[in-house]
Amino acid sequence: MSNVQLKAVRKQFGDLETIHGIDLDIASGEFAVFVGPSGCGKSTLLRMIAGLETVSSGSIAIGGRDVTHAEPSARKVAMVFQSYALYPHMSVKENITFGMRMRGVDAKTIEERLDMAVEILRLEPYLVRKPGALSGGQAQRVAIGRALVQDPDVFLFDEPLSNLDAELRLSTRIEIAALHKRLGKTMIYVTHDQVEAMTLADKIVVLRAGNIEQVGAPLSLYEAPANKFVAGFIGSPAMNFLPARLRRDSSGTVFAEALGMGPIALSSDALPEGHAELEVTIGVRPEHWQMVAGGALTASVVAIERLGATSYLYADLAGHRVCVEARGEVSARVGESISLLVAPALVRCFGPDGAALGRR
Ligand code: ADP
Ligand code: MG
Repeated sequence: MSNVQLKAVRKQFGDLETIHGIDLDIASGEFAVFVGPSGCGKSTLLRMIAGLETVSSGSIAIGGRDVTHAEPSARKVAMVFQSYALYPHMSVKENITFGMRMRGVDAKTIEERLDMAVEILRLEPYLVRKPGALSGGQAQRVAIGRALVQDPDVFLFDEPLSNLDAELRLSTRIEIAALHKRLGKTMIYVTHDQVEAMTLADKIVVLRAGNIEQVGAPLSLYEAPANKFVAGFIGSPAMNFLPARLRRDSSGTVFAEALGMGPIALSSDALPEGHAELEVTIGVRPEHWQMVAGGALTASVVAIERLGATSYLYADLAGHRVCVEARGEVSARVGESISLLVAPALVRCFGPDGAALGRR
């Protein structure tokens, strides 16, 4: 068992609190991803789990054991950093085995674990090289190898792919996913990149300004974001937001209206008692717009990105910029009008505080 449990974890740097009481359960063997904008506290939270940063209050348990005040080396965790953090004067082999040699692991175990890491990460050709003679992708594989040979209960990754170019990011991402499948170990992975979060995670933890915004499986966050922040952060290109107004009709049904779209029925508690109307926001994902002749909405095309299989049309809809995803070839041109339709069931609705409103 190597589940990770955080209870009311807070972190203060001086007078400033940056982590505001995080409660989180990560199951044994789960791949959890902390995602959020730069500065939201992802690294701080990961470093507290690693024991590299003290906890101001609250508790952390790994495998049911309270490690809140335990030394990093007593936690059975291994961390991989964005900067690789390899020793420049040591060969790849020495870098990978250094920690084991320091801890006095016996020579046979060192050889076995080295062989396993070399095989899994295909490091054989580089064993005698120094880090300076490695590409970014190779250096990061060595750093992962160094974590692997520690045989940790929990792997911690802090933006491990951010220094790699796009192609290497993709291939290394796939290697990390394969490593998780093969080892079945608990992994906690920090990134600001929602595509990495969506593709790697069993469980995504969306953080903003030191608080958890939502926890869930990738597609559940995509399909049922708890609030406007998560809706806008998960998904690329981002969800389109448009102003709308809530009303109650004579039969008591609450619905949202926006820019001449059809009524979007909501649960009756979406409009608090005593309110005749309420200004809200609706959200439409780019792939949910349909370009059809005679659609309810007319937009003017401002730019088109043609990616081959998919095109993105950026259009002006009553003064609001929207992105429309179209499959295959599109005949529309910049400056022309397109006619749009969206199924009401696919529209999300967010109240004045950003919280998702219930559907009817
Ligand atoms: P992220 O990894 O999500 O980009 P961090 O966890 O690095 O964010 O930082 C969260 C907040 O804590 C930021 O406002 C950052 O400036 C602050 N912070 C991080 N480390 C320190 C530190 N050692 N001293 C003071 N403030 C810090
Ligand atoms: Mg960080």
